[in-house]
Amino acid sequence: MKLIFVTGGAISGLGKGVTSSSIGRLIKSTGNSVGMVKMDPYLQIDAGTMSPYEHGEVFVTEDWGECDLDIWNYERFTDENLAKVNNITTGKVYQNVINKERAWEFLWKTVSLFPHIPNEIKEQILVTARKYDVTIIEVGGTIWDIENAPFLEAIRGFKKELGSENVFTCVVAPLLHLNYSGEVKTKLIQHSVSDLRKTWVIPDAIICRTEIEMSEEIKEKLARSCDVDERALIEAKNVETIYQVPDYFKKQGFLDYLWEKLKIDVSTSNLENWNILVNKITEAPIVVKIWVVWKYTAFEDTYKSINEAFIHAWVANNSRVELVWIDAENIKTPEEIEKALSWVSWVLVPGWFWERWVEGKILAVEYVRKNNIPFLGICLWLQVAVIEFARNMCGIDDAHSAEFSQTSQNFVIDFMEEQKNITDKWGTMRLGSYEAKLWENSLAAKLYWNTDITERHRHRYEVNPNYHEVLEEKGLTISGKSPSRDLTEFVEIENHPFFIATQAHPEFKSRLESPHPLFVWLVKASLDNK
Ligand code: GLN
Repeated sequence: MKLIFVTGGAISGLGKGVTSSSIGRLIKSTGNSVGMVKMDPYLQIDAGTMSPYEHGEVFVTEDWGECDLDIWNYERFTDENLAKVNNITTGKVYQNVINKERAWEFLWKTVSLFPHIPNEIKEQILVTARKYDVTIIEVGGTIWDIENAPFLEAIRGFKKELGSENVFTCVVAPLLHLNYSGEVKTKLIQHSVSDLRKTWVIPDAIICRTEIEMSEEIKEKLARSCDVDERALIEAKNVETIYQVPDYFKKQGFLDYLWEKLKIDVSTSNLENWNILVNKITEAPIVVKIWVVWKYTAFEDTYKSINEAFIHAWVANNSRVELVWIDAENIKTPEEIEKALSWVSWVLVPGWFWERWVEGKILAVEYVRKNNIPFLGICLWLQVAVIEFARNMCGIDDAHSAEFSQTSQNFVIDFMEEQKNITDKWGTMRLGSYEAKLWENSLAAKLYWNTDITERHRHRYEVNPNYHEVLEEKGLTISGKSPSRDLTEFVEIENHPFFIATQAHPEFKSRLESPHPLFVWLVKASLDNK
């Protein structure tokens, strides 16, 4: 059992997640099994209530975990499914310690921040680490954040208990390049390292985030001032795509260095297939445009999974995808919809919660349905498509979702009976992986090449089964249902070139090595349509 810790120096936003994921991919390339853990210093139990504006998208694991987006980075780079236990938050740690105290586990002792909190952190890490040859553990935030102290103390404890041949620590820190004078400043790295040392954690590697190549002179200076071997300095210069980072680290001898320190056999490392796919990202010859209607503007990470799913689909099609984002706030009236969508060939709309402009969305779906504009709807947009169809094709004028209307007599989207008596907010969510049975002749089955599939969900409302019959009678195909309950998973429209919506979030399962069929097909069809 080997542990590799990744901590942050000076500032956040340096790419600790990509660093950890890339180390994960490197370890996987050696044939060793790799576990991944993210430690988040916030007090929430999980990321479910975080604002997408501040924190980016909330990621969902197979086992119902609402997690930090880094968990998805890890899944994408290691091509492994992760679980709730792989995301440890300060909230989870404190909750467990307090529960144990109430269960008299610390009877006659004083329960305090040290050592009880670091001990709990160590126990939670071991739940994952015991199962793998090597586990990479990323500490969110920076070593200068006061809430990081218990996590750093846990690292120190592990190093003492397991020995330095089993525990390796990296710190990711910025090398400053002053554009106005051309100078390179090493101070932030030096102070990050010395402050880490003050917590008794000795860094084995320093990942230097830099915009320019590190000169020999800078390396010498850093090695001297940080009191490390030059091989411990790993340059992390900006790259064209994050998927290049594993190879970039490998070429600098990072794996050999790990081998030396941790005694992991890395001689079998093979990144060839990975690199072939990565080259396709940078070298794809043709460009296709796909329009995405979105809600949370101004923060790139909000739709991270959608963005990445398109990169995977572009590799599969060997064609670069350019996404054109249409702010949903700007398409509320028929005129605005006409203006925004009339020249669009493909639309994808990702899901969201607490929708304000739902009437505008209904108009938008009416527009794409009537004008044969190919459409892939995700989560809320399946619900919107059903409302639109019920109103305009089934004559149910007040068809609505119980999420948005108090007065409608026809909730075609509603809470299911069993949800109505649940008072705990989390209990009402359909979260995590669910099976779906696809209708054999459906577009969905054609795209998935299968009739039995699973997808990850994150929503509360469902298509009301009382309306299934009337919707289908008028030409809305319910092409996928959950096998155990009468829940709608996919809808399609007959006599439309491509109209498919899913109640799930297919983007969560897309990876470079296994791109998602719905996205691959959307890109392929756009190319055919060009
Ligand atoms: N708000 C909708 C629901 O809870 C859809 C959520 C989503 O798109 N993820 O059912």
